[in-house]
Amino acid sequence: MTSLLHTRAVHAGRDDLADLGLHAAPIDFSTTYPSRDSAEEARRIDAFAAGEDVTGIYGRIGNPTVERFEQALAELEGFDHAVAFASGMAAVSACLLSAVMQGKPHIVGVRPLYGGTDHLLTTGLLGTEVTWTAAEDVAGALRPDTGLVFVESPANPTLSELDLAALAETCGAVPVLADNTFATPVLQRPGQHGAQLVLHSATKFLGGHGDVMGGVVACGAEEAARLRGLRFATGGVLHPLAGYLLLRGLSTLPLRVKAASATAAGLVERLATHPAVHAVHYPKLGGPLVSFAVTGDPHAVIGAVRLITPAVSLGSVDTLIQHPASLTHRMVAEDDRTGSGITGGLLRLSVGLEDIEDLWLDLDQALKSC
Ligand SMILES: *Cc1c(COP(=O)(O)O)cnc(C)c1O
Repeated sequence: MTSLLHTRAVHAGRDDLADLGLHAAPIDFSTTYPSRDSAEEARRIDAFAAGEDVTGIYGRIGNPTVERFEQALAELEGFDHAVAFASGMAAVSACLLSAVMQGKPHIVGVRPLYGGTDHLLTTGLLGTEVTWTAAEDVAGALRPDTGLVFVESPANPTLSELDLAALAETCGAVPVLADNTFATPVLQRPGQHGAQLVLHSATKFLGGHGDVMGGVVACGAEEAARLRGLRFATGGVLHPLAGYLLLRGLSTLPLRVKAASATAAGLVERLATHPAVHAVHYPKLGGPLVSFAVTGDPHAVIGAVRLITPAVSLGSVDTLIQHPASLTHRMVAEDDRTGSGITGGLLRLSVGLEDIEDLWLDLDQALKSC
């Protein structure tokens, strides 16, 4: 599969286009689909309720443009199915509700997780109960009512990594949900290591240009049916235009991730010897994300960058920098934050597609100001 990654990234979800006489994927904006045969519609609605993937009834049940993106992402992650949502958090919410729906509301979480996910689990807003534990101690945290083990690797924002295969083995029948937003299927396919659900904030690398929000979960048939049912019931659907943009984004995903990773690795070397930097975090896996701790005032660095975009989020064509303790992980209590390595001096850099010399000039001058 790896050798075919670039090819599938371009062609997945588009294999039928030439036969349709089309080049770009069609965008279907329909909210509803007329039919003169109500008996047939009733049959299709029953099929959807029974777990089949049905389009062409109503926009909240399914959309053909969104389905193209779902097929393509499923294929890149090595799953048969994927279900797309309005945002990464809508995807997280559906996965948690799915656990609750199955009578297994206990979630085991390994910190750090994305701040929004951490907040949702900590508050128990959706009826879940969380046990936070280190990756090595997951076995001891499992209960008969554990519905999910929720992990990120590399994790946001410390870029700490865990052994997904060992974790999945420990968990046995309890599904592991891996948030693969940071690695993308270009660098890691958690399904190959036993994760049963692979989640993305599609807002980040999948879209890749900072102009579309979305979320997606790759999984097996049974879970996909539950997630589609939950999406229909709760309404967190992906807009067809977003589905189109995400499908388009996938075609350049391998090129973007590889180019940004090469630049990031170069910046890591330079940051490691910079006098204003006292620690640099970079995953063994590689990737476009770098985090580093500064000795001086991190806010001064954010205020001083000129080429780099001072903004939350990641995975865009432009390089972004943010201060996790102020932004992405603001909702996590201070003790929990520092306990999982998110210190006050930590900055997170999402490297884009600019020339490394321009990025370094900007970073270096910004670091001097702190
Ligand atoms: C951004 C992000 C999310 C949430 O996604 P949204 O699209 O912003 O809702 C979840 N997980 C990770 C790792 C993220 O970076």
